[in-house]
Amino acid sequence: MNDLFSVENKIVVITGGTRGIGNAIANEFAKRNSIVFILDKLVPKKNKITNISHIKCDITNNTQIHNACKNILKKNKKIHVLINNAGITIPNNTKDDYSLKNWEKTLTVNLTGAFICAQTIGKIMKKQKDGSIINITSINAEVGFPNNPAYVASKGGLKMLTKSLAKDYGKYGIRVNNLGPGYIQTDMTKKSYKNKKTRNAREKQTLLGKWGNVSDLIGPCIFLASDSSKYITGQDIYVDGGWLANGLIE
Ligand code: NDP
Repeated sequence: MNDLFSVENKIVVITGGTRGIGNAIANEFAKRNSIVFILDKLVPKKNKITNISHIKCDITNNTQIHNACKNILKKNKKIHVLINNAGITIPNNTKDDYSLKNWEKTLTVNLTGAFICAQTIGKIMKKQKDGSIINITSINAEVGFPNNPAYVASKGGLKMLTKSLAKDYGKYGIRVNNLGPGYIQTDMTKKSYKNKKTRNAREKQTLLGKWGNVSDLIGPCIFLASDSSKYITGQDIYVDGGWLANGLIE
């Protein structure tokens, strides 16, 4: 019987995969014999895994994205999976001191960057009439968090970009879905994890009573990339330990 979850020989592009969640996902796809391309601002000095290629690329730069895709297509005729994972967060110091610069920077990376990648790779997927785009959103796409309207708005926007692209791309056999992490231990969240008070508060908000690990995103990502989800598009999957389902913190 065919493995429903197979991602073998799939050409997978993942943004921001040099560290954190993206890196864990990239490594697992490589282990499962995908051909993985990581697009990130920094490229590691040593490439340890043979079927992972690192391409230095800022996802907010249209030309760099186009050149990266051109290079990928030179050797590989297709791109089957795009994982829009690269993201930033720049919390403001106080609620009353929103910075326009931070707003623009956050929206440019988290929303416009994902759009450029989806638009560019979407064109390739349209020709091949096949593809899966996975946008890494956040629980911030659903509920308000303090001191960072740019991040919340960018993830809410990304969530709806997914629905819009799913609508337009469906006729080409391209699926577009959201994967929304809760609090996951990475560089992005290390400040609140290190602080016992904020770490415990976040733990308590979940139904499982714990933070997530980067490995928790892998299974749902393989699912959305593989044929096991071939009739699923325009959806949100939250990997949040039950955060969004919690009605009362006791
Ligand atoms: P990290 O900060 O650990 O890693 C982010 C990666 O994205 C880095 O490799 C970074 O590169 C890269 N990146 C940032 N900007 C760009 C850019 N312009 N072009 C290319 N690459 C870029 O984040 P996480 O692994 O924690 O987060 C991954 C995704 O998950 C993000 O979209 C985030 O918003 C989302 N998320 C994370 C949560 C968490 O709890 N960790 C919760 C909810 C959502 P560099 O090293 O050069 O900065």
